[in-house]
Amino acid sequence: MSSYWNQRTQKLSPYIPGEQPRDGEFIKLNTNENPYPPSPKVIEAIKAAAADTMRLYPDPVCGELREAIAGRYGVTPEQVFVGNGSDEVLAFAFGAFFDQDILFPDITYSFYPVYAGLWDISFRSIPVSDDFSINYKDYLIPNGGIIFPNPNAPTGRSLPLEDIFAIASYQEKLGKVLIVDEAYAAFAAGRVSAVSSGGRHNLLTVHTLSKAFSLAGLRVGFAIGSEELIEGLNRVKDSFNSYTLDRLAQAGAAAAIRDSDYYEGITAKVIATRERVVATLIAQGFTVIPSEANFLFIQAPGKPGPEFLVALRERGILVRHFNKPRIADYLRVSIGTDEEMDAFLAACGEIGK
Ligand SMILES: *Cc1c(COP(=O)(O)O)cnc(C)c1O
Repeated sequence: MSSYWNQRTQKLSPYIPGEQPRDGEFIKLNTNENPYPPSPKVIEAIKAAAADTMRLYPDPVCGELREAIAGRYGVTPEQVFVGNGSDEVLAFAFGAFFDQDILFPDITYSFYPVYAGLWDISFRSIPVSDDFSINYKDYLIPNGGIIFPNPNAPTGRSLPLEDIFAIASYQEKLGKVLIVDEAYAAFAAGRVSAVSSGGRHNLLTVHTLSKAFSLAGLRVGFAIGSEELIEGLNRVKDSFNSYTLDRLAQAGAAAAIRDSDYYEGITAKVIATRERVVATLIAQGFTVIPSEANFLFIQAPGKPGPEFLVALRERGILVRHFNKPRIADYLRVSIGTDEEMDAFLAACGEIGK
């Protein structure tokens, strides 16, 4: 605490990101990065953008990138907002749409309570079931806004589209917004996405290029919603920073969005590896929550979470542990390459004994 900090800063409890060790030190399964490289077309586009034009400010409305996203998701560019990682998009969305008494699951992305603190928004956390599933009916209560990821993090469980739309319809009657954070939707069965929103004006989906697009290092996220929601996000952004995405990020992200063939291929590989690892872990007696994401939420037989974490680290493997009620005995394990997951499974075989 410093007396130079104002009241607001003193009250903040910031998010703590997963560890980023120096290259090659560990098998890194702790931040849900993609184990495969981005499309070669992305690197070409970034190299081409690293030119004399860097002396000029980037396009403040990110026109080319928004057109690429609109084309791919079947919406208009006016229904697309882009930001410096989806974390920034989410921060702007909290500021644009939520007043007080918002709802999100008790077990979910741990950045949500942080944004609520930043903007002074009160919240209620709604318990997920014992099997970590979200029951949509729990959200049909008066509220000032709702947000959750689908698939949820860190559990990996997902909600069918009918349930999402049922919540959105309820919110529509209240005149409130539903935000669905689709960071992991590309890895879900049928790529289930609420982007279409069923024509509802109060449903915003938030997306990232950090996971399925292998571009965590580029910092690009986006939101899709009605024009009025997108205009709300632009109002907040343009009261903060007109140029949140630099020239390299805009060029690289547009190239990624256009190369769906490449990304279909690596997504299929991640899903195939996930299914193989799930089967092996279950056979070894681990508890594995059914996952539709690029990570698993698991418990080792008879081994407390913190001990399992340390045992993996001693074997050169980094995963994520959340020291929180209900999930302290679980670890979240990102899906790596087949070789990385074989090393992980070998370590689990030793630890589980
Ligand atoms: C990774 C993640 C994000 C953040 O993505 P960035 O675009 O890298 O900021 C947002 N929401 C959830 C649920 C995530 O897991």
